[in-house]
Parts: sequence; C-alpha cells; structure tokens
Amino acid sequence: MEIATETSTKALKGGEYLVAESEPKDVFIIGEFTEEQIMVIDSVEEFIKTRVVPNAKQIEKMDLELTKSLLKEAGDLGIIGTAFPEEYGGSKQDFLTNMAITEVMAEGLSFSLSFGAHVGIGMLPILYFGTESQKSQYLPELVAGTKFAAYCLTEPSSGSDALAAKTKAVLSEDGRHYILNGQKMWITNAGFADVFIVFAKIDGEKFTGFIVERAFEGVTLGAEELKLGMKGSSTRQVFFENVKVPVENLLGEIGKGHKIAFNILNIGRIKLAAGVLGGAKMANTHAIRYANERKQFGKQIASFGAIQHKLAEQALRIYVTESAMYRASRDIDRMEKRLEHEGKSLGEALLGAAEEYAIECAILKVRGSECLDFVVDETLQIYGGMGYSEEAPAAAAYRDARINRIYEGTNEINRMLAVDMLLKRSLKGHIDLFTPAMAIQKELTSMPAFETEKDGYLAKEWKMVRQMKKAFLAVAGATAQNLMQELEHEQEILMNLSDIMGEIYLCESAVLRTLKRIEYLGVEHCETSILMTQVYVNDAIERVGQHARAAVAAWADGDMKRVLLMAIKRYTKFEPINTKELRRKIADHLITSNEYEFRNKNK
Ligand SMILES: Cc1cc2nc3c(=O)[nH]c(=O)nc-3n(C[C@H](O)[C@H](O)[C@H](O)COP(=O)(O)OP(=O)(O)OC[C@H]3O[C@@H](n4cnc5c(N)ncnc54)[C@H](O)[C@@H]3O)c2cc1C
Repeated sequence: MEIATETSTKALKGGEYLVAESEPKDVFIIGEFTEEQIMVIDSVEEFIKTRVVPNAKQIEKMDLELTKSLLKEAGDLGIIGTAFPEEYGGSKQDFLTNMAITEVMAEGLSFSLSFGAHVGIGMLPILYFGTESQKSQYLPELVAGTKFAAYCLTEPSSGSDALAAKTKAVLSEDGRHYILNGQKMWITNAGFADVFIVFAKIDGEKFTGFIVERAFEGVTLGAEELKLGMKGSSTRQVFFENVKVPVENLLGEIGKGHKIAFNILNIGRIKLAAGVLGGAKMANTHAIRYANERKQFGKQIASFGAIQHKLAEQALRIYVTESAMYRASRDIDRMEKRLEHEGKSLGEALLGAAEEYAIECAILKVRGSECLDFVVDETLQIYGGMGYSEEAPAAAAYRDARINRIYEGTNEINRMLAVDMLLKRSLKGHIDLFTPAMAIQKELTSMPAFETEKDGYLAKEWKMVRQMKKAFLAVAGATAQNLMQELEHEQEILMNLSDIMGEIYLCESAVLRTLKRIEYLGVEHCETSILMTQVYVNDAIERVGQHARAAVAAWADGDMKRVLLMAIKRYTKFEPINTKELRRKIADHLITSNEYEFRNKNK
C-alpha cells in the first residue's frame, strides 16, 4: 500500500529532538515509499536473492573473482549507481531509497561489505570532493563495476586517532607528483581494488586526501587478514613506497583531508545502521522459523515463555531502532533537497545534511550495531547446539555482526562524539539547551505541577519521553555547568549521557512512527507496533534513570546531589506495565506470521 502524505512537515535541527517535540507527520514510515521507490528496492532485493545468496558459500571462501563478477553484474543492473548522477552512469535515487537498498543488501553478507565499501567510502569521496575531471575520469568505470574502490584511512598506529596518520606525501622537485610513503591497515576491498582513497600528511603535517591507483608503481599489498567474520570480504594492508601520485590526484584541498574523512563517516554511520537492521530482521526471522519448527518436551520451542521473550525482544529492538533510522534518514533527505534547492552542489547538499544530523548518525551507528549483536546472539541461543554449527545461519551471523561495533568509528568514540557535538552545537548557538535547562531548574524548585497526558494512543509513553528529556536536561545541564572543561576527561559520565540521548531518540521515534502508522493504516493494523513501543519505553525509562543516577553520583555531592537525584526520581517515575504479557502477544504475532513482521516494505 502506498500512503499519500503531506510534504510540508517540520524538521528539527540536529540534536534538537532533546529540547523540542516532533509530530507523527514529521517522521517517515515504510509505507510511504512510492511505487517507483519500491521497484528500485525490489530490483536490488531480487539481485541479492537470486545472484548473491545462492553463491554465498563460495563468496565466503574468499573467491574474489566471483565477488568482482557479481559487482560487475550489479553495475550492469544499475545497482552500484543508485547514489550517483546520470552523467557518471548512475540513476541518483534519493537518500531514503538508498537507505532501503542498503538494508536489503544485508542479506549478501560479505558481498554486502565489499559492495558497501566500494559504493560508499570508496566512491563517495570522489563524487563529493573530486574535481570535474577526477569525477569523469574515475566514476563511470566504478559505477559500471569494471573498476573497484577502497578507502585507506587506518594505519597500524592510528585507528580511532585517525589524524595521527604517519603516511607522508612530499611534492616532487618538478612539482608534478606527490611522493607517497607509508602503510595502511585493515583496508576493505584492498585485494581487488583499482582505486584507493588514501589519506596522508603533506610534509608530515597537512592531512590530505589522494586518489591512488593500484597500478601506480610502489603500491603493494599485505596478505589477507584472517578475520573473525566477513570471511569473504578482502581485508589487507596497503603499502606505499615512493609512489608517484600525480598532483592532479590530490582530492579536495590541501590540509582538509579531515573534512573528507569525517563527512564520509557521517553518511557511513547511518548507512551502517540501515545495513545492520537488515541483518537483524533476517536473524529474527531465522529465529522465529527455527522456534516454530524445533520441538522439545513434545512442543514447539516457540511455545515456551523464555523463547517468546527473546523473539519479542529481538523484534521490538529492531522496530524501535528502525523507527529512529528512518526518521533521521528522512531528515537528511529533506535537508539535502532543501540545500540543493538553495543552489548548493550535490556534494555540499548531502554532506551538509549528514553533518547537520551527525549526532543522530552517531547514535544510530551505536544503537544499530548493538541491536544487531543482541539479535544474532539470541538467534544463536534459540538455535541451541545447532546455533554453534556452521550448518545453520546463526554462527556466521554472530561472527559477521561483531565488526559493526568497531569500524566507522568505534562505539566508544561515537558515544562520546554524540555528546561532544551536542555541547558544541549548544555553545555555538545552533540549538538552545540553556533555556529549557533553566526552565527545568525552575520547575524543580517549585511545587510539582499536575502533568497532563495527551489524549489518544500511546499518551502515557509520549509523556514518559517528555519526562526523560527533562531528566536528561537536568543532569546534563548541571554536569556540564559543574565539570566544564573537565567533562571531556570523564568518559564514563559522557557514556551515561550518550546512552540517555540514544534512549530518548529511539523512544520518541518509535512513539511517533507508531502514531503515524495508526493514523494512516488504522489501529487494527498496528497492535504489534503499539505493544513494541509500550514495552521498549517502559524498559528504557528505567535504563535512563540508571544512567542518570550513575552520572550524578560520579561527581555531585551534598545538596546538589540530593536535588539532582530527586529530579531523576521525579522524571523517571513510572508505573510498570505487564511486559511479560505484552511480549507474549508480540511473540504470538511473530510466530503466526513466521517472520519479522515489518520486513515487508508495505507495512
Ligand atoms: C574488517 C575490518 C574492515 C575495516 N575496513 C577499513 C577500511 O576499509 N578502511 C579503513 O581505513 N579502516 C578500516 N578498518 C579499520 C577500522 O576503522 C578501525 O579498526 C577502527 O577505526 C578502530 O581503530 P583501531 O583498530 O586502531 O582501534 P583503536 O583505535 O586502537 O581502539 C582500541 C580500543 O580503544 C578504544 N579507544 C580508542 N581511543 C579512545 C578514546 N579516545 N577514548 C576511549 N576509548 C578509546 C576504542 O574504542 C577501542 O575499543 C577496518 C577494520 C576491520 C576490522
């Protein structure tokens, strides 16, 4: 079913969700995809199911010729080019469509990583930062899948601290080349890539991007890494020994390599969330199907409460995280279109939009990857001994999932980034945290006002979201005011604050999405999503309380501590619902439909 929705919805600024309220119409629900978008997404799904999945076992044996030929097929079918303009052979779909494509791609396992690294971190730097001649020289073959790309940022001694790279570039005496020396590590697609995006410091100082061809003399590769998972994806070291890189291959501006590296990562993070949610839906569906088939004690294991709890918890975490992922994707999509309309170039528009929502991208990277890890772990558990066997899909999924918490910025780095970016945006006046934080301080010193609930569905949950925001503002405001510059050295507190930000974003997104679904599909089609939202918010407010108390206890004492703990108690107070019963109902739906229910694009 295609849903007609109004386009003039209000977009909050990045991070503003913590101090302002959105409405259901502001978020995206999957049923809003148009027929044309669905056709594109379906064609990618068809390719994955018919060409990649049947070859998965061979791909996992590191058959790179097969991976290359499938990438070429993807190029022929136009699947590589969905984020690239027609002039380079692409078909430039909007951001939301590309997110859905990333999601369905997940079924391709290692192939998806090769594909994702090629079209994402490999090709996007050229599209967004390349000169016209660099774009027309490199993009058509990369879009066609006749050449392949890789991205070289990490080095043996610089991973999270990427700007500490040692790879060095020096201008040759005749001024025609940069002479590149150094070493990169963990480079996805290195084994077959023709084009490398390489970050090096000019004269050991100015961090800069370069386009380096595999064919340039002095480029060599290390052996394939023996990895925990993603065994069909090529990961190698890349060495540069006096490589002559033509000056025309300098990417972007001298000394501005960090702009390329970090902006591409913003997009990478939200795309990672789409990919992991695709994987999580698959894993949940495997778990449901196995639980429906497997019998113990004369019954299907799906009939046991302990298993139903797991199936429901998997599904509801996916639902809630997906609500946030599509909400942020729509915000980025809308902002990209607005910036293009204002005359910004393609690159400036998408990068500007992703930068605006960098806080949300960081949150989604963390929450998406942790959702997937939880889901695959429970799938393996539901499979019992079979989960430990290579015969069943759970073992590979368990191994493959783990990398997502490490690359595109580790989850520790992304957690801290989310808070850091929020405080910086507030200091720069992009969003006003101060006024609402002061209002809460005032509220705390006055008599508690009678809090009204909105009418209608999920009124209680919506109120709980508002209360969580107040708890965050009370704690974050006081913590930032008291610790000031010291806060950046108190990582444990930053982690607590970041986790509260994540919970609020997910809870609110789920409430908004469910309300919008009710409005457009009718409440009779939304029972499971209502239950999922209720259970998640019920449990999340407790976690928010825990994080908030831990943050306060880490630095406050005396009256300050008492006041803040009182505030947390007031704003995270809730009457627990019977989550056991609600999870059983959610599980009933899953068991009956024999799949993750929202996998269908029309729901
Ligand atoms: C399969 C795979 C594919 C990859 N593909 C690519 C690729 O294509 N291109 C590329 O450039 N890179 C790639 N990487 C590298 C990846 O991005 C890095 O591994 C990642 O950024 C982490 O860097 P690191 O491994 O050096 O860990 P480190 O930075 O050494 O981190 C080790 C631990 O310390 C923590 N830590 C680090 N700094 C801090 C801090 N300031 N505060 C608190 N904790 C901290 C980290 O969170 C982590 O838990 C890939 C890695 C793998 C495993």
